[in-house]
Amino acid sequence: MKSPVISLSAFLIILFLGASLQAQNQDLEWHPDLTNDWTPVEDSVYTENLGEPPSDAIILFDGSDLSEWTSAPGYFPDIPGVPDYLNALEEDHGAAPWNVENGAMTVVPGSGNIMTKQRFRDVQLHIEWRTPEEIDGDGQGRGNSGVFLQGLYEVQVLDSWQNETYSNGQAGSLYKQEAPMVNASKKPGEWQSYDIFFEAAHFDDDGSLIKPAYITVLHNGVLIHHRQKLQGPTVYIGLSKYVEHPRELPIGLQDHGDYVSFRNIWVREL
Ligand code: MG
Repeated sequence: MKSPVISLSAFLIILFLGASLQAQNQDLEWHPDLTNDWTPVEDSVYTENLGEPPSDAIILFDGSDLSEWTSAPGYFPDIPGVPDYLNALEEDHGAAPWNVENGAMTVVPGSGNIMTKQRFRDVQLHIEWRTPEEIDGDGQGRGNSGVFLQGLYEVQVLDSWQNETYSNGQAGSLYKQEAPMVNASKKPGEWQSYDIFFEAAHFDDDGSLIKPAYITVLHNGVLIHHRQKLQGPTVYIGLSKYVEHPRELPIGLQDHGDYVSFRNIWVREL
């Protein structure tokens, strides 16, 4: 037979557990308002028309001049050696040597790459581009340029209208890493757009990679990369791998020897 002391203890434990369960149940009595988040959101951001810069965008090119850009020889070579690349950042190479006419900037073949004066980390980037109407060359030699996020990660610009090349080198590819999901290219001579959402890589204090870079790209409004992981900086030969670099770096545009034009370039810092 159980002692009255043990029975009393068991009774008190049951009483305690019952009270605890009741308290938990009270916690679970959700009211719709409990999940309302009233933290203010910036409410003055707007865009007049789709594709035009939102009110909080940094305008990188509005068609008038290249004041937001500089010449960038060596900033993003075909095979980036990061130290060389960073050295190029420290030197003043003067004004961006491309042509501005009729609201567009156009590569002057042989004049070299250009880069933004400002440096960026995570961004939403809008850029419009056009390859020459008159087809000249083929494959990679037809309307080649490139948008280089942080000067390291290329979203390929190419005339990919009925123009065969390796798929991870066609328009919209993450060059030599990832082909676009579809070819959303327009005909040569027509304006096209990229809307790019870029998450920069993070490195630890010892230079090791904490988080790779990710990129989402719309080509002419069509999703062609959905938070695609980048393997590392773009390389022309061999496999890419991450090398530590600063958190904020300029955006670059490539002179690949073709008369590619750009307009309406703006960026939002994320
Ligand atoms: Mg290119």
